[in-house]
Amino acid sequence: MNKLSNIATDVATVKLLIDGAFVESKTSQWHDVVNPATQAVLARVPFATKDEVDAAVSAAKHAFKSWRKTPIGTRARIFLKYQQLIRENLGELAALLTAEQGKTLPDAEGDVFRGLEVVEHAAAIGNLQLGELGNNVATGVDTYTLLQPLGVCAGITPFNFPAMIPLWMFPMAIATGNTFVLKPSEQDPMVTMRLVELALEAGIPKGVLNVVHGGEEVVNAICDHADIKAVSFVGSTRVGTHVYHRASQSCKRVQCMMGAKNHVVVLPDANKEQTLNALAGAAFGAAGQRCMAASTAVLVGEAQSWIPELVAKARTLKINAGKEPGTDVGPLISCAARERVEQLIETGVAQGAKLELDGRAPNVPGYEKGNFVGPTIFSNVKPGMCIYDEEIFGPVLVILSAHSLDEAIELINANPNGNGTAIFTQSGAAARRFQEDIDVGQVGINVPIPVPVPLFSFTGSRASKLGDLGPYGKQVISFYTQTKTVTQRWFDDQTLHVGVNTTIHL
Ligand code: NAD
Repeated sequence: MNKLSNIATDVATVKLLIDGAFVESKTSQWHDVVNPATQAVLARVPFATKDEVDAAVSAAKHAFKSWRKTPIGTRARIFLKYQQLIRENLGELAALLTAEQGKTLPDAEGDVFRGLEVVEHAAAIGNLQLGELGNNVATGVDTYTLLQPLGVCAGITPFNFPAMIPLWMFPMAIATGNTFVLKPSEQDPMVTMRLVELALEAGIPKGVLNVVHGGEEVVNAICDHADIKAVSFVGSTRVGTHVYHRASQSCKRVQCMMGAKNHVVVLPDANKEQTLNALAGAAFGAAGQRCMAASTAVLVGEAQSWIPELVAKARTLKINAGKEPGTDVGPLISCAARERVEQLIETGVAQGAKLELDGRAPNVPGYEKGNFVGPTIFSNVKPGMCIYDEEIFGPVLVILSAHSLDEAIELINANPNGNGTAIFTQSGAAARRFQEDIDVGQVGINVPIPVPVPLFSFTGSRASKLGDLGPYGKQVISFYTQTKTVTQRWFDDQTLHVGVNTTIHL
């Protein structure tokens, strides 16, 4: 079980990265990094002291002086090399990720790959960080904009994508000329640290990227630090809301991507086989521990009769350790997460939902201590039940019914979350109405997990996001830069000399 401890052991320790050096923390508080399939302790991660956070920020502040002036081509080439190093080490990174996080090896490769795409995008920074110029805005006068970096930026990341989400943050922040302090999830920091090592190998200079580990105290120290100019957070709504308010209080720019309850609407004209396959994959993949998991199905009209076939598909999914070939559903991140999901299933039954498939306590030979919950399906679910109102973050699909598309849209728009949603239909008209009227940031049309590629930005909305600019893509250039607008005139012999002018004209 994950726990805080202050007892020295022989297990390897996860290092801090401060000013280009991987250093042992002087803290007395440590957290075990545990393999969720076996409970083996893989490493111990420190909860950094305030002095260590200050040292990381100070290194980043010092490095900013020269990094902000580093040519854009030099910055871009580091990320060109970095993407190559990630590709070369993809297998090793995925194996490390699976060991500490639990997801299947192919899914772990996907986790790294979706982050790699952002690194590729960072390598194109020369085309992205461009200002505008207005020629002759007045006689002999031009106005142009510079997109300048902010200074020291910080990132706080969750456990569920320990490769992709750190890579959403520091590559774009650094490529735009900022320096960075990263605070990875304490539950699975090892793959993040390997990615950080590769970033240094790619040529990121000392002090430009720093890493501190920890929990609430370290996060609060980041929120409060006067020398940090922007904070990017991904995690739960509870913590993200706290981070947003606390960091805004000290005048930082903040973006928080938070919790979800993603609804998939199934119309009766949808392709049944493709839809049920997509739904099962998106509900139970990564053991439901994705912020874009399709955790809620809204079956419209005749589609309500498809439940037995969906249950049959879910039953075929193989529950096993993520490293075992053919695994569909790995363990949950911790014993506490498993207990919470099991408790929510129990509450669902008590509150009157129909348990169509019960995944509790599956038999997983060889991994009896793993945090496994198998695919679980509830029908007859209604708003007001805990299994609908809360983000379960486990392999539990809740099914609601609706008589019409309008009723489904009304239901989804009444839910506080707005991260992702999808519709399955063969009707272009229905899909277009859904796209227009649904109040959710990311919409899939026959695509169950519509996470945008980095040419676009991640765009959750309502309670799923605070701050108006999303991570990666075009929006993050605005997040990590300050627009400076320059208006210039040059005098030469032909310039008309008009004497002192006290009016507002240029
Ligand atoms: P979490 O909120 O528990 O942790 C996120 C980060 O906050 C971690 O680095 C953690 O150390 C830190 N933290 C934890 N408790 C804290 C506290 N009390 N004060 C300050 N900092 C604290 O989230 P998690 O369990 O790691 O991740 C799962 C959550 O993240 C889910 O809700 C999921 O939907 C969400 N998520 C959202 C997105 C998105 O893009 N919207 C993406 C991935 C995950």
